[in-house]
Amino acid sequence: MLAANFANLEADVRKAEAAGVDCLHVDIMDGHFVPNLSFGPEIVATLKRITQLPLDVHLMIQQPDRYARTFIEAGADTLTVHLEAYHDVKRTLGLIRDMGCKCGLAINPLTLFQNATSLLKRVDLLLCMTVNPGFGGQPFIIEVLEKVRLARAYAEQHGLPYDIQVDGGLTSETIGPSVAAGANVIVAGTSVFGQKDVTAAVKLLRNRAAEVSAGG
Ligand code: ZN
Repeated sequence: MLAANFANLEADVRKAEAAGVDCLHVDIMDGHFVPNLSFGPEIVATLKRITQLPLDVHLMIQQPDRYARTFIEAGADTLTVHLEAYHDVKRTLGLIRDMGCKCGLAINPLTLFQNATSLLKRVDLLLCMTVNPGFGGQPFIIEVLEKVRLARAYAEQHGLPYDIQVDGGLTSETIGPSVAAGANVIVAGTSVFGQKDVTAAVKLLRNRAAEVSAGG
């Protein structure tokens, strides 16, 4: 939703619904963990009122433990927190789960997969950032796909059901390699909302992903 038109959020939500997206990904930035500032919990509450789509809320904030409850109460269906933020990650993930919300763990491009492994049995989703977090419209960091491969292999070896999400720089060119590496949840911002025809943009991405899944 970072790439959506803030002045007419509802119109963009309707476009996303019509395009058949699975959920809305909402980036929350605090001006500390990342230099940018974006929305607070009000945006989540607003989205909850206007759509039935699940809300996937990504907290790029320094103290996610302090705000997790507020975002869940506002209507988050999945809440993702950063490994690199300043909090007891295990405790925060537990708090999110205890409130009946799906929990996600995000890792930045330079964070090693090994730093996250001890937490993976507690998460529903592992988010591998494919750009440095904080700004929309950045180029995709292809080296992160090596981490996605490790994450997929680890899930299979240990029988863990977590989803693997990629976020940042996803386009019709980068989605294929991402899915081939093992990502199964794709966040697209600019490459969808930046286009005139949102439905066609989503269809193009879905087709690319399907080609790769089918072994193409
Ligand atoms: Zn995000």
